[in-house]
Amino acid sequence: MDTQTMGECLVCGTETKNRCSACAKAGVDLFFCSPEHQKLAWHMHRMFCGPGKANPFRWPPLTPKEAEAATRILDLPINTVMPHSATLFQELQRVLQELSQPSHLQTYPPALHGNLLRIVRVHLSAHSQQPATTEGIEFLTLLGEASHLNEFESDPPPWLTGYLHRLSVFVALSKPANAVHAMKYLTGATNRLFFYLEDPANANPDAARKVGDGVAAFLDSIVKLPRLVVVR
Ligand SMILES: [Zn+2]
Ligand SMILES: [Zn+2]
Repeated sequence: MDTQTMGECLVCGTETKNRCSACAKAGVDLFFCSPEHQKLAWHMHRMFCGPGKANPFRWPPLTPKEAEAATRILDLPINTVMPHSATLFQELQRVLQELSQPSHLQTYPPALHGNLLRIVRVHLSAHSQQPATTEGIEFLTLLGEASHLNEFESDPPPWLTGYLHRLSVFVALSKPANAVHAMKYLTGATNRLFFYLEDPANANPDAARKVGDGVAAFLDSIVKLPRLVVVR
């Protein structure tokens, strides 16, 4: 972890030269000021770390448990909040039925498109079939859907990889088990996510704004703030 480039720690925002060395090899600068802060994000970042995963950002293939659960609920109704999903869902049923042999599940194709992977996981989530071990990836998937990623992934804009890594760090910090150490950085990490999207260096500010608006609306809908009581 050594370079002349400086950047903000994805966890706390401190300016640092330290970046993830595996991701640097993949051609993407992801800064962490210290091993401690790298560790806070690790349970998510490890899924997207290094060559072949980090740049471009790759959604992890289904675990055998996820693929198994998905094949069991293929006939259940699909979540209608994803208008793009109906045709992809048919494709998904075809792919999963072909791959429902246990011997195939181990070698689930890593090239399966991010959209399909998210649709599988949203479908699992909608029917409460998500294996507990994939809790973080489930939340990241829902944030990805809220970000309208389906409109961008076939022709990914240059900022998309950086956005998805920041989103995965946000998910890592919001994990309840991380609460003691991570919660204090969550607000800052959220703000930096939106600053990143608003950065005029982005090639397509309109697309970035659409992503930002989508994810902001989703976060508003799940963070249920207690109503203020007016004391007379
Ligand atoms: Zn830090
Ligand atoms: Zn990395």
